[in-house]
Amino acid sequence: MITPDEALELVVRAAAPLAAQRVALDDACGLVLAEDILADRDYPPFPRSMMDGFAVRLADAGTTVPVVGEVPAGSVWEGQVVAGQCVEILTGAPCPRGAEAVVPKEHVARRENFVDLPNPIKPGQNIAPQGSDCRRAERVLAAGQVVTSMAIAAIASFGRASIQARPRPTLGVITTGEELAGPGGPLRPGQIRNSNGPMLAAMARDQGLSAPRHWHVADRLEATVQALEEAANTNIVVLSGGVSVGTYDFVPQALARIGAETVFHGVKQKPARPILLARQGPRLFFGLPGNPLSCHFGFHRYVAPAIRKMSGLAAARRVFQGELALAIESKGGRVRYVPGRAEVSQRSAGGWRVEVLPEASSADIFQGCRANCYVELPAVAHVYRAGEAIGFTWLGREPWW
Ligand code: AMP
Ligand code: MG
Repeated sequence: MITPDEALELVVRAAAPLAAQRVALDDACGLVLAEDILADRDYPPFPRSMMDGFAVRLADAGTTVPVVGEVPAGSVWEGQVVAGQCVEILTGAPCPRGAEAVVPKEHVARRENFVDLPNPIKPGQNIAPQGSDCRRAERVLAAGQVVTSMAIAAIASFGRASIQARPRPTLGVITTGEELAGPGGPLRPGQIRNSNGPMLAAMARDQGLSAPRHWHVADRLEATVQALEEAANTNIVVLSGGVSVGTYDFVPQALARIGAETVFHGVKQKPARPILLARQGPRLFFGLPGNPLSCHFGFHRYVAPAIRKMSGLAAARRVFQGELALAIESKGGRVRYVPGRAEVSQRSAGGWRVEVLPEASSADIFQGCRANCYVELPAVAHVYRAGEAIGFTWLGREPWW
């Protein structure tokens, strides 16, 4: 059986970045750019007043001059500022020709149509020269960078409503299990609720995907095959349950039936040992064990990196180091992943204090409700003391770097 790191390596190798598409700017935040973004003109495009005040000549410092015009933002004053005159100007307006400085409103005394100017006046004060923020044709963003909210503002400044970017993959969720019921209504004896469906949808959205389509099938080969066929236009299919060796575990067989090729089945880890990866061309199929915690962990450690790689992002999660809040024993044998809660350490600057939230079983998502990370306990048996260093990965979407 392969190790968790070997399995992750196979996932990363199997997932290929999706082809770039034209994407509306409104939908582009968080996506990876597939083109360079160049400034369409100088910014500011004209010498811009940075204050509400008066556009003046330096030689008039300390004198009283008439106000001969007004330039609100969005308009142009066609005249020229000459010595012995000034023009009232508002923030964001283009400075008229001849203006050598803008004196803020609060620095002058105004009487009717005259203003007393201060002395001295600094050359160019409160005027942002044309092109001082960014030059025409300057490369502001490069292909491969992530579109941030500030990047959206830059691109919108350039008058664009869409860009070339890599889309996020589409995802289908197939939950399997005769025993599972949806929300509401009474349960038959032996039934439990389908919690993996909502959980996997939430995890997909957490990764920036749109809501996945969801199929629920009974433990029957034909029904599983049919759902797989209906999910044929998705980039990734996540199946929950039916992936181990029970009489009713039809997922491996159903995947074989549609011609998907198994990449691995089984990883030396706890939880989610029976996890399966199959592929069909560029499409990936993850068979996650049905136990809710196993299913959660399987998505966290293997599906999320595939989503990231397909989106053009760095695939693997970063492992952070923290200090354990309390002692915990690891029996070893398999790498063990335990939900945890990392918080800023009060003892070490920049450090993390990690509380482990041990599960009672692979079905126990209840202890982990407060979790914001997974703690990794290596495969060697060890009794960890409180304060000992431990690796952890954050749940949900990582910062894009
Ligand atoms: P399986 O992997 O199908 O053998 O399922 C393992 C355990 O997880 C069983 O106890 C199932 O009842 C439970 N389980 C499977 N699928 C789900 C689901 N969608 N929601 C909640 N529990 C599930
Ligand atoms: Mg089952």
